Amino acid sequence: MDRRKFMKNSVLTVGSISLPHGLEAIPAGDNSPGNSPQIGKYKIEYIRQDIPHFEVPSYRGARYEETTPDTLDIAERAELCINCLTSATDDQADYEIYDGEFGRNPPVLVAHSINGWCRNCEGMMEGLPLLRVATGSALNDQVDPVWMGTLLKGIGPDGLLYIPLVGTPWSRLQPSWIQPVWRADGTATDTSNESVTQFTAPFLWPRAIAAMTVYYLRDQNPMWTQTIEGMIQRMLQLATNEYDYSFFPAGGYEPNAKLTGPGVCDVMPLGCLAVEHGNGRLIQGLAQYYRVTGYEPAQALAGRLVNFLRGRAHYYDAQGRFLWSYTDINPSPFEGEPFGGSAHSHCIGLLGVLEYAAAVRDQELLEWVRSSYEWARTQGAPLVGYCPEYTVHNWPRCETCPVADLIGIAIKLSTAGVGDYWDDVDRCVRNQFAENQLTETEWVYRMAEDMPKKPVVYSETADRAVERNVGGFGYPGVNQWGTQRASCCTGNSSRALYYIWEHIVQQDKGQLSVNLLLNRASKWADVHSYIPYEGRVDLHIKQSCESVRVRVPEWVESNSPQVACKINGVSRQFNWEGRYVNAGAGREGETLVMTFPIGERTGKEKMGGAHYSVVIRGTTVVSIDPPGKYGAFYQRASYREGKARWKKVKRFAPEQEIRW
Ligand SMILES: [Zn+2]
Repeated sequence: MDRRKFMKNSVLTVGSISLPHGLEAIPAGDNSPGNSPQIGKYKIEYIRQDIPHFEVPSYRGARYEETTPDTLDIAERAELCINCLTSATDDQADYEIYDGEFGRNPPVLVAHSINGWCRNCEGMMEGLPLLRVATGSALNDQVDPVWMGTLLKGIGPDGLLYIPLVGTPWSRLQPSWIQPVWRADGTATDTSNESVTQFTAPFLWPRAIAAMTVYYLRDQNPMWTQTIEGMIQRMLQLATNEYDYSFFPAGGYEPNAKLTGPGVCDVMPLGCLAVEHGNGRLIQGLAQYYRVTGYEPAQALAGRLVNFLRGRAHYYDAQGRFLWSYTDINPSPFEGEPFGGSAHSHCIGLLGVLEYAAAVRDQELLEWVRSSYEWARTQGAPLVGYCPEYTVHNWPRCETCPVADLIGIAIKLSTAGVGDYWDDVDRCVRNQFAENQLTETEWVYRMAEDMPKKPVVYSETADRAVERNVGGFGYPGVNQWGTQRASCCTGNSSRALYYIWEHIVQQDKGQLSVNLLLNRASKWADVHSYIPYEGRVDLHIKQSCESVRVRVPEWVESNSPQVACKINGVSRQFNWEGRYVNAGAGREGETLVMTFPIGERTGKEKMGGAHYSVVIRGTTVVSIDPPGKYGAFYQRASYREGKARWKKVKRFAPEQEIRW
């Protein structure tokens, strides 16, 4: 890490990773919660001007300083991610999100072609409040009410969420799969037609439902549930009604669109489009809302979309293996190969089906997801969590979105009791997922100097482009970041950060469970993990509980005599429960210390079409050969010292967590 560029402003310092120079909080507009006026020079014409009142409740919890082992800290990574979510934004366009493009001289932030795609569709609006719950961070919190306001301003007279095309010159650059646009008179046009000023498509809806569900869980304002249910009621009018399934016809829709004209329902979005146009993605938003509120229409529609995606869309086979489709990238290089395609599109669809199956406790469907996951995890390199962007063995790029999806699937399968995949999560989080987050800046400028100069155009900015992206996730390779796209996986990955953080330690009916041996603060207990320096985890118990269960790491066998447990320095007898050690009751103020051996081994793996040799300590990769050049991965020699290094950190233990 390049510490020369880091500022010592304590407000912007979290753990041992500080935010780089130039990351002063972005200037606040006049946007007090609830009125959320438009800011910036673009006169964006939203479909609704008057929006209901809302407030942003403060993030309450205990804040304190503490010294912890200097090991992976998800709350610290979450705070960095908040930096990217809120700083890599355009304050002239209601904090529209930018994407980082670093393989250029100078490195730039690029406006997206679809207004709201990144921050809404890929979950930035959903991720931001979740990460604030985990960290208590107020960094750039002037962004939050503006984003919440833009969601509400996008709600049209028919209840759906619309993208404004006036005032956002980049928004007419729509991908072909949102064409044609169906109109209120039943005819079709496209977004190059200037008379189209607002449009929607199903891909916009799930993450909007998710974000508003999180807002509702925070403030209990019925306005959010009314808004969501208004959306769902309109969806029920638009969805087709087939034998046991429903789908939304391909294309975009203007307000009050009529989808009953000739030819409309012939446009069944199949393959990759079945997910990306929105049918597949929508399942998760509906299932999340049903899980939280029990709203039956959400469950019914989600169930019919599951039947469509699983049974009609030609995107998964009977065992859940991923099928190539003509709507994936040009499949010609892989002709003759039936399995493959976009890993993220398949995985995000699968995660939605899992969310639904868990919510309705459909055991058969859960087993299908498990079968699909068991196949999917072998398509990359489970040793480090490398997942190719396209499910092809030699694909040289690891999009973080499917990595984040697979983490979510593994966690949700484990909590649904369908399997125990915590080791998959652990390996992936400590390695590929952690390395795919941008934490350094110096190498990006060094790389840019090796590139030819390219002018910065109107929809781009070179203003602190790299610093504003710190904490973002993109498309790195196996051993380095390199020149790939920098930050457009940040939304999906922000939610995965929350999934991980939430499940490190959990409390249920007096039982405290530690599922992942990672640093974390909570109101029940604080976890100090010495891994991979030492085979040791300390649990500082803050609320008495009937039993404390700690899951042993992958390299320790169940019933191993080498595991030891002490409470306040006194040996404690414990019982084995599968992969967990149950140490019995824990009392407030006690410290439980669990120790076990940890060693190193060398692994050889073919990833992204090349052979690598890795040294693994526990499950943490501590070096890779050949090494990377730009943003080199696994520069972790200090982990091999065998004695934990320590660091001073600011801790936040929230009063209330969100079950997500
Ligand atoms: Zn992505």
